[in-house]
Amino acid sequence: MIQRIRFKIGAQDVGPPLFLRVAQLIREGKLNVEYDPNMRGGAEYDMATNTFHLGFTAAQTVTQEALVVHEAVHAGFDALHRKQMTVAPEEMGALPKPAASARCLLCLREL
Ligand SMILES: [Zn+2]
Repeated sequence: MIQRIRFKIGAQDVGPPLFLRVAQLIREGKLNVEYDPNMRGGAEYDMATNTFHLGFTAAQTVTQEALVVHEAVHAGFDALHRKQMTVAPEEMGALPKPAASARCLLCLREL
């Protein structure tokens, strides 16, 4: 199903490459996934600790699947932005200026 997701937020593509990158970072241990009963069925991605907090241990409903995908987009954007920040200063001039920050319509976080 992830393979069929394809849209843009500003200039940023959201599609299979983003989700595959997030999955790879989880496998490499660079992103953490934790079950948190305090989330009471909800989900959140904490950019400060690179951790998914999930209020469930398996996505059993469409809503839970959507939550995982939603938080994966936050994690993917976080990883991409961090990657951009590792670019050497002399290369910065070649990069397009970052677009005005977009806010998530669902959780109001910056993307
Ligand atoms: Zn959000």
